[in-house]
Amino acid sequence: MELNIFNIQHFCSGDGPGIRTTVFFGSCPLRCPWCHNPECFSNTRTLSMEKVMEELLHDKEFYDRSKGGVTISGGEPLARQEACIALLEQVRAHGIHTALDTSLAVKDPDFSRLLPLTDLFLADIKTADPEAFCAVCGGELQTVLDNLNFLTEKGADVVLRVPLIPGFNTDDASLEGIISLIRQYPYPVTLLPFHRMGSGKYKELGMKYAYADTAPLSAREVEQISQCFRAAGIREAAI
Ligand code: SF4
Repeated sequence: MELNIFNIQHFCSGDGPGIRTTVFFGSCPLRCPWCHNPECFSNTRTLSMEKVMEELLHDKEFYDRSKGGVTISGGEPLARQEACIALLEQVRAHGIHTALDTSLAVKDPDFSRLLPLTDLFLADIKTADPEAFCAVCGGELQTVLDNLNFLTEKGADVVLRVPLIPGFNTDDASLEGIISLIRQYPYPVTLLPFHRMGSGKYKELGMKYAYADTAPLSAREVEQISQCFRAAGIREAAI
């Protein structure tokens, strides 16, 4: 089987527990203007499953020692569901911990096959405002919530990830909305402050980067936002 991916990154931390290798699948149904992986919109390559597994198994000793594993990310891996499931099966067959990093913005994923193969879901909550999600990212918030509710019903292990994007979701009203949405779920949260590390990729790809002039949040601003989450009783994820 050929996999449509744009990167395999070794020795990642923060994409799940321990030391991990992250596989980035191409294509995404969303178009977040701050996206730091614009390659997923255009410039993907294919690699055989054998080649990908060879790379992933290369680091098995590090996964075992650090209680790490493999994270499948993107783009949006659920937009390439069959390939994603096939890769999860292969990784699991070697006894390796699996994490799936997803926007959950894909209708009706095949959770009956995904759930038994996925140890941890890393799920994005970008906003609690359906209109903003549709207008800015091009997705349906209800799809995300339907999927998250299903995972919750099934007792999946989930970490919610909130990208902090100046001008989109860091004003008081947006944060209050996100916090009250997240409080309905039993999951810990990781905040992902906006950065411009993807700007060089936009240049290389000849694409316009809408956030080229947006300043990252200061450490103080990030800490203030973290405090709001903590004050609401929301746990910080340990990864
Ligand atoms: S969901 Fe992630 S990969 Fe897709 S456009 Fe948004 S930031 Fe980029």
